[in-house]
Parts: sequence; structure tokens; C-alpha cells
Amino acid sequence: MALTGPPAAGWLTVSLMKSANRVEPLPGLVGHFAERFGREPTIVTRAPGRIEFVGNHTDYNGGTVLGAAIDRAVWVAYAPRTDGRRRFASERGPQIVERKAGDLTRGEGDESWINYPLGVLAALPEFSLPVPEGFDYLVGADLPPGSGLSSSAALELASGLAFLEATGTATPREVLVKVGRHAENHFVGVPCGILDQGVSGFGQARHLVFIDCRGPRFATVPFPANAHLWIFNTHTKHALVDGLYAQRHAECMAAARGLGVELLADIPLAALPERIAAARPPLPEKVEKRARHIVGEIARVDACVVALRAGDVPAVGLLLTASHRSSQHLFENSTPELDFLVDTLIARRGVYGARLSGGGFGGSMMALTDDIFGPADAAEVAAAYRARFGADPEVLHALAADGAQRVR
Ligand code: ADP
Ligand code: MG
Repeated sequence: MALTGPPAAGWLTVSLMKSANRVEPLPGLVGHFAERFGREPTIVTRAPGRIEFVGNHTDYNGGTVLGAAIDRAVWVAYAPRTDGRRRFASERGPQIVERKAGDLTRGEGDESWINYPLGVLAALPEFSLPVPEGFDYLVGADLPPGSGLSSSAALELASGLAFLEATGTATPREVLVKVGRHAENHFVGVPCGILDQGVSGFGQARHLVFIDCRGPRFATVPFPANAHLWIFNTHTKHALVDGLYAQRHAECMAAARGLGVELLADIPLAALPERIAAARPPLPEKVEKRARHIVGEIARVDACVVALRAGDVPAVGLLLTASHRSSQHLFENSTPELDFLVDTLIARRGVYGARLSGGGFGGSMMALTDDIFGPADAAEVAAAYRARFGADPEVLHALAADGAQRVR
């Protein structure tokens, strides 16, 4: 499979990296920083949210995934202090949370969001990277939190990049990604794979990010010209979602063991029926379905890359919808709300395909459309959803955007 590698060696290094696409700080952020801290920030960074384009639950199975960084981001404004005080603020609330340098006491309740930058500060030494002492810090965003668009990874990467810039540290982009994931896994305590931070870190305007999760290895694939991403957030969340994730993870690992491999990514799609037939004892039905989803999904990611490179957008769309059907029937991580949106969208003119995006059991879905699908079409889909479920989905028209960068 031919992939575009990083466009230039410098692209891999985040320090002092400014995008060719000049980006201004989030409107109001610099002024709010001055109001709260009485001076201007010396550093402003930005890291985008992401969608999972295709590759559902493939990351922890050693597989591949395609994501897109979107044009909604988290921004961090930062200025150093010489007195060893660290003062954290978010535009989402009025309070300033203070810690002394070296004090990693977790935030609770309204202050629990500081666990993301604190987790990054805790992770930096694990990667032999220096940690800034005192600072003033303000986060702002045009990315909705808790919507499955990975504001948590964006917050980690924007924070990590600000801290690295503050100590004048040049680091490969991959290290920033790993620092963010380490913070989320070990400090915040969410066992996410590499997708969220990988896409927020390696995003590129008008490109998708391809990740071979086992390396991990990152590359980009051009996003089809004239195609559009529409995201519908159902704001629903299955009550047992954490337990269900863990259960799916356990079922995938049981499938790999039962089929005699370390991870399901070790089984090529063509070999799967034979491997399933030969398994002794036979796989329980549920476990077999999970294996068929994951192995099929990894094949769909690869087929999507081929179709994207061939410019065959209708084929990409069919793969996206096939991915959803596999989630719906084999992985059983869809919901009536997500199924309704997929069914409603794919019946419309201009929609190439649609699928749930992210972990499932609620959350967001995405559609790939051509440019005859516009805001009026999205509003009609939202109205149909409201008529059926009595609530409005949040609708976002997103562009594939650049990954984490310093903007000032
Ligand atoms: P997602 O990553 O899908 O957006 P998470 O629950 O993983 O959802 O992360 C959301 C959390 O990230 C929020 O509850 C908050 O703690 C933190 N967060 C995100 N954006 C901001 C922000 N602008 N200011 C402060 N905290 C934020
Ligand atoms: Mg998150």
C-alpha cells in the first residue's frame, strides 16, 4: 500500500513549529489572559479535535485506523513565572487553580480539568523531557468537550506543546503524542489507544491521518477534493459505557487467544473463516462476531486508503457504511440513535456513506458527503432526529485540519 509519508523532515519536529497555514490565536483568548493575569501570554498553542474516519476499535487490536484532525481545537495561552507558582485557568470557568511547581495534587470536581495539564507535567520526565517551573496558563476552545471529538487529547497536546516550548525543547512529534497518551492513561486514568493523540498530533489540512497502531507508524492520505465531513453528536451515552468498552476489549483478547494469535490484527481477512473453523474449542458466537468485526474493519481501513488514493470517493463511502453495519451487527456497539442517523443520511442525495465514529454506545457519528449536501440538508436530518427522539443532535461541518502547533 502506497502512503504519503511526512512531507518534510521538519514536519516531524514540533518545537517552534509554525504551520504553513498561518493560524491566529482563538479570538478573545489573549485578551482574557491579560484580564486574568495582568500581562500578555508569551506562547499560544493549539491542538485540534479529531474524528475516527474508519477503523472502529482496531487500535488496541494492533490494527490500522484513519482519522481526521478537525478545524475545532483547544488553545493554550502561557507565560512563565519566576516565583514557582503554577496558575491554571479555563475560559469555561472563572476560577484560577494554583499549584506550586512540583505539586501534582489532583484537581477534584470543578477543578478536575487541571488533571490533563498536570498529567502532562507528570509525564514529561518519563520521556526524559524537562518540566517548566512556574507559569500562568489559560485554556480556551471552540471544540465541544465530552462529545467524542477528543477534547481531552487536544488539551493534552496543546498543554504539552506549550510546556515544551517554554523550556525550548525540540521533540519529535511522536513523542508529544506519546506524552499526551501517557497523561491520559496514567494520570487521568482513561485507557485510550493511540488514535486520539495520534490524530491531534499528526493532523494535516486536507488530509486524513493513517496510523498503524502497532508501530505506531503515522502517515497522511489526501482527503478527497470536494468531499465534506458532517458530524452529528447525539449527546447520548450508554449508562454502562465504561464497562461495555472493557467487555469488548476482553472479548477481542479472548478471540485472539482462541484463534492462536497475539492480537487480532495478526489474522488476514482471507484466512479468518478457516481459522474460525479450526478453533478448538470453538469460539463462543459473540467472540466470533467481535473477531469478524475487527479483522473486517482492518481490511476496510486498508481498502479505504486504496480507494482514497484512486480518488474513488463512492467506494470510500460504501466502506464507511459497511463499517457501520459491522459495528451495528457484529461488534454491537451502535445505538438506535446512531442507526437512525446513518439510515437517514445514506438515503439522501449527496451522501457517500455514514458511520458511528469513536467508541460507540452513543456519542457521535459522521457522514462523508459531496458539496450538494449543505446546511439545509443537515438541518432536515436534525429535524427528523428531533421528531423521532425528542432532542436535537449537535451538527458540525468539519474540515480536515492541521495538527498541534504553536501559533504565537
Ligand atoms: P472528549 O475527549 O470526547 O471531549 P473526555 O471526557 O475524554 O471527552 O474529555 C473531556 C474533558 O476534557 C472535560 O470534562 C474537561 O475536563 C477537559 N476539557 C476539554 N476541553 C476543556 C476546556 N476548554 N477547558 C477545560 N477543560 C477542558
Ligand atoms: Mg477524551
